[in-house]
Amino acid sequence: MTQTQLPATAGESLAGPPGPRAHLTSPVTQAVLRVQNQITAAAREYLSGDGFVEMLPPIIGPVTDPGARGAKQVDIDFYGHRYKLMTSAILYKQASLLAFNRIFYIAPNVRLEPLETSSTARHLAEFHQIDVEVAHASRDDILLVAQGLVSHIIRRVTGTMAAELAFLGRDPRAFDALLAGPFGRMTHHEAAESLHGLGHDQDPHAEIDWYAERLLSAQHERPFFVTDYPKGSRGFYDRENPDRPGTLMNFDLIAPEGYGELCSGSEREFEYRRIMARIRETGENPAKYGWYLDLVREGIKSSSGFGIGLERLTRYIAGLDATWQANAYPKLPGVVSP
Ligand code: AMP
Ligand code: MG
Repeated sequence: MTQTQLPATAGESLAGPPGPRAHLTSPVTQAVLRVQNQITAAAREYLSGDGFVEMLPPIIGPVTDPGARGAKQVDIDFYGHRYKLMTSAILYKQASLLAFNRIFYIAPNVRLEPLETSSTARHLAEFHQIDVEVAHASRDDILLVAQGLVSHIIRRVTGTMAAELAFLGRDPRAFDALLAGPFGRMTHHEAAESLHGLGHDQDPHAEIDWYAERLLSAQHERPFFVTDYPKGSRGFYDRENPDRPGTLMNFDLIAPEGYGELCSGSEREFEYRRIMARIRETGENPAKYGWYLDLVREGIKSSSGFGIGLERLTRYIAGLDATWQANAYPKLPGVVSP
């Protein structure tokens, strides 16, 4: 493990997004968007080659993912009914497996993140996910898909975007360790111990906050999985380990060099009884989830899946100071933007 320099936060070294003309005509933005275009092309290439069907996700619905930590949902008036913009398409991913066993979306998400996240260099109020779901897959199966996908994307970008990466000051040797072998893997419990060793008082029963995640990330030179998060901080759809109640069969993929979380995923709950119990535990009214629970009651497939933040992945690959640089029309929490 090497000690690398932490990337600056937007608050430290970088002003917020400029206006749309300055942003879109900037050679930096143009290089970043070309890299991002290769990322989505590589994702489609890899997943289509592996039997996945790309579907287009809905952007509104009567209910959306309740699992987004601390973010508010956006209401819209749908002919007199209160609908939501998607904070994530997770419920539709599970439903989509009724059509195909392997699906993905490149999905827009809207989350009114807390105002204080506008200076984390990691949070946008509108972003995209490469959203993948596989029927009858275990967590180990889906970890391999995530690792294969990210490795393929990086192989293609470093192979085709040498000039752009050089212009952006990103040394492609940053990915040598990543391409040389499997990603690392540790449990949430081991991550907490590692953080203790770094002098950070991580509660082993709580979510790892942004600061701690950045600390951990800076200790690594290739991406690594953190598995088995404690229940409570994640949505009801992350499957609880039947042998270890209170622990979820989920994971995050953390980028090295201080860039932090790229992706969250999990084995899913799919049984009606379990999903009802999990929704009730969160204090929510199951009636809200009517269409979804009707499907679940009649039977949905077991599955595992994940969502990779596209702007976060672009930031890591292009070596950017801030995630907003990887979006053509960046919306920072609380900042009036086009
Ligand atoms: P989540 O379901 O909250 O883990 O979100 C899935 C992925 O989307 C995360 O792993 C991040 O890469 C990305 N993501 C989540 N929230 C944001 C945000 N506010 N801005 C940019 N990317 C985000
Ligand atoms: Mg997450």
